[in-house]
Amino acid sequence: MLVEQGFQQVPFQEGNPYTQDPALPSLLRRLIPPRLFNEEIEPELERFGAEVITTIRAQSRGNRISPPKLVQYDNWGQRIDELQTSEGWRSLKATAQREGIPGIFYERKYREHSRLFGFAKALMMVGDSHEVFCPLSMTDGAARVVELLGTEGMKRDIFPRLISRNSSSAFVAGQWMTERPGGSDVSQTETKAQSLGDSDSLGSKYSLDGFKWFSSATDGDIALALARTRPADSGSRGLSLFLIPLREALNNRFGSSTSTNGIRVHRLKNKIGTHALPTAELSLEQTTAYLVGPLNEGVNNIIPVLNITRVWSAISSVGGLRKCLAIATAYANVRRIDGGKRLLRDVPLHVAQLASINLVYRALTHLVFGAVTLLGRVECGVASVEEQNRLRMFTPIVKGFAAEKAVAAMEEAMAALGGQGYMEETDIGRLIRDGLVERIWEGTTTVLSLDLLRSTTNPARLKEFVSWSYSIILMCPPGLLKAVQAAIQSLQGRLDSLLAAFLHPVPPLIARPSLMFIGYIASAIYLLEHAIWSHSRGEEGYEIDAEVFRRWVNDGSFVAAEQDLDRIRSEVKFADASNSVIVFGKRDHAKL
Ligand SMILES: Cc1cc2nc3c(=O)[nH]c(=O)nc-3n(C[C@H](O)[C@H](O)[C@H](O)COP(=O)(O)OP(=O)(O)OC[C@H]3O[C@@H](n4cnc5c(N)ncnc54)[C@H](O)[C@@H]3O)c2cc1C
Repeated sequence: MLVEQGFQQVPFQEGNPYTQDPALPSLLRRLIPPRLFNEEIEPELERFGAEVITTIRAQSRGNRISPPKLVQYDNWGQRIDELQTSEGWRSLKATAQREGIPGIFYERKYREHSRLFGFAKALMMVGDSHEVFCPLSMTDGAARVVELLGTEGMKRDIFPRLISRNSSSAFVAGQWMTERPGGSDVSQTETKAQSLGDSDSLGSKYSLDGFKWFSSATDGDIALALARTRPADSGSRGLSLFLIPLREALNNRFGSSTSTNGIRVHRLKNKIGTHALPTAELSLEQTTAYLVGPLNEGVNNIIPVLNITRVWSAISSVGGLRKCLAIATAYANVRRIDGGKRLLRDVPLHVAQLASINLVYRALTHLVFGAVTLLGRVECGVASVEEQNRLRMFTPIVKGFAAEKAVAAMEEAMAALGGQGYMEETDIGRLIRDGLVERIWEGTTTVLSLDLLRSTTNPARLKEFVSWSYSIILMCPPGLLKAVQAAIQSLQGRLDSLLAAFLHPVPPLIARPSLMFIGYIASAIYLLEHAIWSHSRGEEGYEIDAEVFRRWVNDGSFVAAEQDLDRIRSEVKFADASNSVIVFGKRDHAKL
């Protein structure tokens, strides 16, 4: 039989990622003032959604995207370290910049709602972006650092280009923290900075020498790097933050030079995913750099970058899932089973599988946009102290929780397409590979969970979180309460469990299960807040919002997260020792 003969599968059609999204339109309608939303933001998101599935998708397809190449030497044996990225990669990055990523966040045309608008666009494009948002997220973080701590020269000459929509002159920034001794812990940073006793319009000049183990914006224009300004035994308290032009002439002629400011690209990383992203190992020799912020406070000074890139990471996890869910849902509209009698969309067992993926997507979207709302308010100076504290606590949670939950749901979406799901052409495989990195970069889930414990060192912080949760629970109107009462009672019980788990001294072993547990609770509270809103306004589908909340609270993995935390709390005294024996055996444990 010829391939053209016999059964021909009708291809699935993905719809507009904004209008077809199960959560985003109504969530934004709740979060953004009506006139602004109806007249400006929603029409713009609809337009952008159409762009994503037409022009942007075309930029991300086929041989337009390929892994970067590094040409280290020319034919005369001269070291040139020429990085060649694919045309699709460059055009996707330019499109994102033109669309206002990260410009929207700093133009602040929509004040504290600007973050919501920009991240909604990002969420729609992530699945087709081949990780261009990785360097752009670091650019966003660098813009914030320059805005807060930069010299007058940096604010005048660098900042406008970091946030520019003109892709031919816009700057991209990298973030160089990780070195060979450690990324989670930068206290052993080897790169040394020596003052040149000189300054120019960008500030005080230093010379840097060292080796940066991971650089993902290797095709960028500037980088923010940590380097040592006090002896090694001062640990992370001896680090300062520097702005490095990747080309020597950046300061004077803005990128017209190709000489590399003492930066050598040692090797491109051989990664399991994020293939179009040029992640490299770099050596720095007499690299000119400019001090940013106070000396020896590098770790504090780079925190605004991490706060922003962690929210970006959560958006990437959820955006990858968004696309996988859209594909699996679209496939159910065209794939027939049962001797061709039924479409998958009419098969309850299959629809139940899609509903469980959809539930995870809704919960993550509400959670992450909760953090995005707080970020926008903090940046515009309108957040209360409680909101600032909540953002501090939520930032590691949304990043870690979204990364852990999204990939598992993507795998379900893959299976929902049967064998076709396993094919590269659907993009689900790439999205899973790319999604896996969200569990590692910008902090592994374990490291983030330790950050969560730090954010709750003051017991008042956790109590504030519980009070915020109760403030929403108490808003539930009688008409809705009937449908969700049992779920609310369960949630109240879990808030009590959480308070009990955080009784001081808090054992470090509860860090990771706590991150997951609070992730579930916070997303449930946001889903409830939305259900209350849609119920009180009689929004279309308000019963579904209540049902989504109810299901999320009753979800087996939420229940298991509470049991996990309880079990670890009760076993904590013996767990350390027995874990070591389980992993390394008795003899090794004795040696330790
Ligand atoms: C594709 C990719 C791109 C990247 N791009 C960049 C970039 O552009 N710039 C940059 O600076 N970095 C970048 N990174 C580095 C990344 O941020 C680090 O890999 C990450 O922070 C982990 O650091 P590490 O690799 O040194 O692992 P380690 O810190 O050695 O961690 C190893 C293991 O130990 C665990 N661990 C560490 N500390 C603790 C602790 N205190 N308690 C319990 N467990 C702990 C971790 O959870 C992990 O499981 C990139 C990484 C990848 C994979």
